[in-house]
Amino acid sequence: MRIDFHCHLFQLVNTRSRLESGEVFFKGYEFYERMVKKFQEIKSIETPSIMEKTVFHLNSANIDKVVLLPVNTKENQEIKKWVEYAPDIFIPFYNAPEKANSNIDVKNEIEKAIIEYGYKGFKVMLTFREKKLNDPLIHPVLEAAQKYKLPIVMHCGYPPPGTRRNVLTYSNPISIDDFASSYPRANIIITHMGYPFTDIAIALAAQYHNVYLDLSNLAYMMPSRLRELLIQAKEIIGTHKILFGSDGNNPEMIEIAINYFDEIDFLTKEDLENILGLNAAKLLNL
Ligand SMILES: [Zn+2]
Repeated sequence: MRIDFHCHLFQLVNTRSRLESGEVFFKGYEFYERMVKKFQEIKSIETPSIMEKTVFHLNSANIDKVVLLPVNTKENQEIKKWVEYAPDIFIPFYNAPEKANSNIDVKNEIEKAIIEYGYKGFKVMLTFREKKLNDPLIHPVLEAAQKYKLPIVMHCGYPPPGTRRNVLTYSNPISIDDFASSYPRANIIITHMGYPFTDIAIALAAQYHNVYLDLSNLAYMMPSRLRELLIQAKEIIGTHKILFGSDGNNPEMIEIAINYFDEIDFLTKEDLENILGLNAAKLLNL
């Protein structure tokens, strides 16, 4: 089974023609030019349904299941439509309210999300809210993850290129050191291998049994660095805590990301099976 552990809700406006037209300010950036070239190799379909298009590309990429990560509480609702469209494929995660001083009973909201609506894990975006991951707002999420044995994907490391906010200031995964051992049954996933804090991320995954690393967006942003990082992480912790994630802004990018792994010659077949699905299946209790 192959699982994409880091995918967002695609919007129909983020098409390949928009990307190819250079309507973004990354023209001339190597990652961008490389991506435009790779797009030409990927077959797509014309459809007004972004969900249908996504499933088309998941089939091409041979991916069976996808963890959908909301970036705000509004997307918690949006995700339900995706799960309804393809309940066997899409696995909904939940973004708990992340505003201090709001009147919302966060604990209650989280319980409802898990018990009534069936969310299977959490996405933490505190680092986008000018808060470090050890902010007190993390505790209700950790408590619920501990109680229900649900994984928590924590945004660590760099935000998408072009993000006009100081996310990096808050997203060093070292903050996880403050609470990882206090919640031993809460499995914590560091996104983007924490890049550029990759050494810290690998050290945390080595130290704590409940800390994992996702590889999202590294395959298309920095393929040669990812090779090094995979070799280094494997040397220390093996491959049983590393998770494939695509993290694109359109469904074609799932294929670009998976193609990288399908062409790898420096890991064993067993390593790749772990990274591309087995580790995720264990975390999701599949
Ligand atoms: Zn992401």
